[in-house]
Formats: sequence, C-alpha cells, structure tokens
Amino acid sequence: MDLNSPVGNLPLVGPSYMRRLEKLGISSLKDLLYHVPHRYLDFTVGSPISLAQPGEVLALKGKVVSIKNQYTRAGRKIQIGEVEDASGKIAVVWFNQPYLIRTLYPGLDISLAGKVGWFVKKKALISPEYEVVRKGKEKIHTSGLIPVYPETSGLSSKWLRGRIREVLSSVTITEYLPENILKKEGLMPLEAAIKSVHSPKTLEIAENGRQRLAFDELFFLQLSSLSRKRTWQKNKAAHKLAVEGEDLQKFIGSLPFSLTASQKQAVEEILSDLKKEFPMNRLLEGDVGSGKTVVAATAAFICFLNGLQSVVMAPTQILASQHFETLKELFTPYKVRVSLITGGAVKKDLGRTDIFVGTHALIHKKTNFENVGFVAIDEQQRFGVEQREHLVKKGKGRGVSPHVLTMTATPIPRTVALTLYGDMDLSVLTELPPGRKEITTWVVPPSKRQKALAWVESEILKEKSQAFIICPLIEESEKETMQSVKAVTKEYQELKKLFPKLRLGLMHGRLKVAQKDKVMSRFKKGTVDILVATPVVEVGIDIPNATMMLIEGAERFGLSQLHQLRGRVGRGKKKSYCLIFGEGGSAKVLTRLKALERGLSGFELAELDLKLRGPGEVFGTRQHGFAELKIASWQDVGLITKAKRAAMELISKKGFVLASEAGMV
Ligand code: ADP
Ligand code: MG
Repeated sequence: MDLNSPVGNLPLVGPSYMRRLEKLGISSLKDLLYHVPHRYLDFTVGSPISLAQPGEVLALKGKVVSIKNQYTRAGRKIQIGEVEDASGKIAVVWFNQPYLIRTLYPGLDISLAGKVGWFVKKKALISPEYEVVRKGKEKIHTSGLIPVYPETSGLSSKWLRGRIREVLSSVTITEYLPENILKKEGLMPLEAAIKSVHSPKTLEIAENGRQRLAFDELFFLQLSSLSRKRTWQKNKAAHKLAVEGEDLQKFIGSLPFSLTASQKQAVEEILSDLKKEFPMNRLLEGDVGSGKTVVAATAAFICFLNGLQSVVMAPTQILASQHFETLKELFTPYKVRVSLITGGAVKKDLGRTDIFVGTHALIHKKTNFENVGFVAIDEQQRFGVEQREHLVKKGKGRGVSPHVLTMTATPIPRTVALTLYGDMDLSVLTELPPGRKEITTWVVPPSKRQKALAWVESEILKEKSQAFIICPLIEESEKETMQSVKAVTKEYQELKKLFPKLRLGLMHGRLKVAQKDKVMSRFKKGTVDILVATPVVEVGIDIPNATMMLIEGAERFGLSQLHQLRGRVGRGKKKSYCLIFGEGGSAKVLTRLKALERGLSGFELAELDLKLRGPGEVFGTRQHGFAELKIASWQDVGLITKAKRAAMELISKKGFVLASEAGMV
C-alpha cells in the first residue's frame, strides 16, 4: 500500500464504509491522513479511581466488575457497569449502546476517559470513551489529546481513529518539499505534521502540524495553476498584432464617455499582452456596470486594424443580442462589420465579418477560427477553462491560439484569484463610471410584503417604470430544473392576478430562443411592465427603464449574487430600488441580507460572504470549478503567500517556468 491506494485496501473498509468516506471527500489513504480533526478531547490527566472527583475530565484504568442493560422509565436502554482498580470502584453509564454488554465483560482490563459526574447518588463516569487494554497495544481513544474528526452518519471519530492509525502503521510518508523550502517557510516535515495532527503531544504541536497540511493544500492548488499557465504559454499566438497607432487613440477619443482610470489600465495591460509571442490569457474582473464591454471592444478594434476577426462569446442568446447592439453602435463611425450568430442558418456574409457575436455553443459550431486574433468570453462559468481549451489548435508539438480575454462580474477576492486562477493574468476594474446613482435597497420582512408590492404597482403606474421579479432556483444546480420552471410559472400566474392593471412577462431558461427574444424585446420596448424570471436568464442584461428589482427567497442567494441581480437596475436616469424578500427570516439570515442596505461594493460584499458562508457557497462550487478548501482558509493570506512562493520556487527549479512569467513580479 502507498498513499495513493484506495481506502478500500484497508482492513475493515468495505463498500458501505467506502461510500460513507466518499461523503467526506475521502477516497485514498492520503485523503484519510489529510482528514484533519476539528477539535481534541483532553484526556491528558489520569487518576486512581478513588481520587476521581465529580466535574473532572479524567483517564481511568481498571477491571470490569459488572455490566448490564437496564430500561429507563421512558423505555430506553442504558448500560450500567462498575470498574475497579486497586484504589476503589466507580460506576460507568452509557446510553443506548446495548451491544456493549457483549464487548465489555467482567474481568476485562479497560481504559476509560470522560467526565466524572453523579448517577443515582453515586460517583460515575458518564458516557466515557473506552478501549480494551492489551499488552503492546497503544491507547488511541482514552489517553492524551484525542482527535474528534468531521463525521458523517455511520462514520464516527472512533472508527476514523482506528483506520487512520492503521494507515500510519502501514505506509511510509515521504517528504516531497526540499529541505530549504521547509526551513525558509518554517514548515514541519510532512511525517511529523501528519502524526502531530492525529496524535499530538500538545495543542500547539497539533496546530503546527495542521498549518503544514494547510500549506500543502494551497501549495498543490498553486502548483496546478502555475503549470496550467506554463502549458498555455507554450502556445503560440495565432497572429502577431501591431497595437500602436493613431487609429486606436481616435477610437478611444470617439467614445461617448472618457474611460475610467482602471479601464485605461486594463486596456494598457491588454495591449502589452497582444504584442507577445504567446497568446493572452487574461481575466477582466469588474463589478456589474463597471464597463467591461468597452475594454473588450478596444481589443477587438485592434484586431480590426490588423485585418483580423474577433469573437465575442456570451453565455445566453439574450446577452449575445445585447452585445451585438452595443458593439454595432460603438463601431458605427468605423467600417467594422459586426455579425450576430443565431440559431438559424448561417448568414452568407459571415465571411466578411470583423466581429462575431454569439453564444459559446453557436460560435464553436459556426465559426472557423483561422482568421480570429482575439476572443472575449463574457460572464462564463468556470472562467472559460473549457472554452480556452477548444480554442487551441494543436499543431506540431505546440498549439496555436488567439488571444483570450475572460470577463466576469464575480468578485473574486485576491487571495482566491492568486491561488485558483494563478494561470490567468488579472485586470481589475476597481471603480464604476462616474455619475452612477446608488440603488436604494430594502430588506422587506414578510409582514410588509403586501404593502411593498402595492408600492411597486403604484410606481409602475405613476412613473412608467418597469420591474424585475426574480424567483430563486429551487435546487442548486447550474441549469434550471423543471421544478424551478414550475415555481416561476406559478409565481407569474399569481402575480398576474395580483396586478390586473399591469402587463407581465415570464422568462426562464426552458423557453425557446424565439420566445425569449420576444419577451425580452417587449420588455425593452416597454410593453411589458414586470418581468418575472429565474436568475439564470438575466445575467448582464441592460434595460435602462427598469428601476425596480424584487428578489424572492433571497435567503437562498449569496450577497454577491444578490448584488449582481441588483445591478440589473440603476442603469438609466431614474432613481432605482431593490426590494429583497426573505422567507425563513431567521435573525442570522436577516443580518446577512441587511448588509445590502449599506452601499458596499461587490468586492466588499464578496469578502463578507466569504467570511459568513465560505467560498463554495459564495461562488457556487460547481459553477466556477471552485474548490472548497478542507484544511486551509481563504482568509489566511500569509499562508497563501508562502504556498505561492514555494510553488514558484519549485516549478522554476525543475526548469518549468520563470518567476517573472508566472506573474510573481
Ligand atoms: P459590465 O462591466 O457590467 O459588463 P457594461 O460594459 O455593460 O458593464 O457597461 C455598463 C454601462 O456603462 C454601459 O451602458 C456602458 O456604455 C457604460 N460605460 C462604460 N464605461 C463607461 C465610462 N467610462 N463612463 C461612462 N459610462 C460608461
Ligand atoms: Mg457585461
């Protein structure tokens, strides 16, 4: 057996235990060793039985005198026994473990640990940990600091202790980090760390061991993103671009607004990438409404100046149509030909297009990337990893790819970006264009719901404004389930009854493209007052006259998600509002939602979410390929920096990559 062997190779681990272990994310022996306790029971103090005092937590040794099952008046079984040593006797009580009378029989030497209390006026150990004492067998449940692990049904800490001990005695753990890195970063050697975590001498030693294992977790994530970067940079840029020139300045000068400082910086960073031998792989991160589209448009314009085509990929057809309109308008003064790729037949003139706009799926089906110099991937889940792979044409030995810019409004904290997306270079739009009005946000308690809805109706009638009503996805899933579609449809029917004077539209992912387009264009034109929708459809759409965003079941969303939904309004001249309805309404949930009333930025909300709920919840583990950390924490900036430094050092040692290439400097 080695560390990569499946847990099933261990004695006493059959298919059903394997399934339970799987639930804890454990499938190899290594996973088992990296399953870190979340606390320890302190059984470091032992005592002769006669000196044990009620209130103390102690380890005791003795012989079983008697043990029997007894029924309580409520009909439950308790196990009552007596244990003695040379100094005296003590009663022992367990609850609901009738099998114990067969495991522990009179005459047996056992070790017990737990809290001393009273039972029927006698001194007694209540529900202690126990184990049979045998010569040469180490005690793992009743002496010293005893680990308590994250458990799952049918898998106790006691069982885990036994299996972990088995692994420790049957595999060799070899250090893979070079001595100098261990020294420099002050890390405990691997074998010592693993042993310290599972059977520590002191809590401080346990913590040092845990730190080392947390380091490993971050280190491997860093290593894999660095090596992805390395692989990408072996590709050759499909086309070399000349980026200087007056035309570009003229284009930027002709925009209806001047770029914000961070838009300018992002453009600069992109320009310097476009000149390189290897293709750009950059993530453009910016809050909703921060103006990412025009940054991408600038890169597309450079391609145009170089006689090349560009591609803009959107996650949905609606967003593609919107980008198409925006780009067409931006490029009106120039002879840039923009085409929208739809599900219908390929238009004949696609060959004479400068910028293709469409969904990922359609673009891959209908475009040949021969002449494409630049690809923008908008609001994509998993940050475009799969899309990028599709773009690389494998040649002799190495690949050729267009330059790629991935855009996202998901506010990824820096520590997370460093670790998980270290393969991409990062540009961040840190400010919104000037003149944006704050969106007034209310968390509406259930008691005020009717009043709030009446207010929305009056606003629509008085101001000729429009509103979104978002229903939550019923199940967590990347795609809409039928159940969610049913829920949103039901809500739509009910709201129609509630608002007989208003025109309502229904929008969800299961509608046909033509139906979606129809509803959206009616909403845009203003012939629909309220759009009732699921959250999946709406990412990134721009309806300036929509001034009210109502979100149902808000407790099911993260703060960042709510913030992004809210970003759909406040795009026009009128004052905008966001009304947040939470059902369950526990104080904790309400406090969390109240953060939205405080005018925090998307990044601040993401940091808050990260603290309150953890990254899996915040970004949707599956949605963004976001790994939940098991041991380390995203808050641990110091350790993340150490892990990055070590990963860079190691990878460069093997001649993998230079520090400067990996974005460290
Ligand atoms: P997002 O980053 O959410 O994709 P968009 O690119 O859709 O944002 O831009 C949102 C709105 O802001 C658009 O109407 C766009 O024209 C406008 N905009 C972008 N940059 C600026 C700027 N520098 N000044 C003023 N308005 C801008
Ligand atoms: Mg956008």
